[in-house]
Amino acid sequence: MNIILIGPPGAGKGTQAHRLVAERGMVQLSTGDMLRAARTSGTEMGKQVAAVMDRGELVTDEIVIGLIAEQLDSNADAGFIFDGFPRTLAQADALGELLESKGQSLQAVVEMQVDDDALVKRITGRFTCGECGTGYHDEFKQPAVEGKCDSCGAEGGFKRRPDDNEDALRTRLMAYYKDTSPLIGYYYAKGQLKRIDGLGDIEEVAGRIAGALDG
Ligand code: AMP
Repeated sequence: MNIILIGPPGAGKGTQAHRLVAERGMVQLSTGDMLRAARTSGTEMGKQVAAVMDRGELVTDEIVIGLIAEQLDSNADAGFIFDGFPRTLAQADALGELLESKGQSLQAVVEMQVDDDALVKRITGRFTCGECGTGYHDEFKQPAVEGKCDSCGAEGGFKRRPDDNEDALRTRLMAYYKDTSPLIGYYYAKGQLKRIDGLGDIEEVAGRIAGALDG
């Protein structure tokens, strides 16, 4: 089953994608993670997109479509989770064509709905373990022992995304409403859209996603 998780920044797409990977053996394809990895490894493309990402703007369709195209031959018997892709109508069309060229299709597009005030709160407080990527939050989920990751035990290696600040967030939200939200109508018209309430704790939201996928 190939699915898209769609929703504004901070809706919890990455968190829920990680759960689907762990529980169903699906393969997560996050263009945001791929772009951050390109920056860390210092590739030419990584350097090219760094400032754009830090401002909260979208990188070009060509770059992200290329990144996804490279991954579609990966072994994914349980299917792909597209997380943060597509973000424009051109990307959505390209994804449809790429899947078709591999003899595959999309089974569901899950829209995670979260109101804007909640997004700002979620995003401005979040941080992750630099070793294993486990997510935390200043208000909602502090590590049990200050400075130490609950999952892998690494100490003092927490990091915050450079684009998780109020200015970049405003730009990211604008990009979502301007460029990405039209995809909701696009997939509704194709009969693939499932809407779920993205507010609540991680378990509750995971249950709603499972209901949307299996129901
Ligand atoms: P994310 O981790 O999904 O929030 O993405 C972080 C940043 O990477 C975004 O604010 C964009 O600058 C860039 N990005 C990630 N995915 C895409 C995409 N599909 N199209 C354009 N830009 C993207």
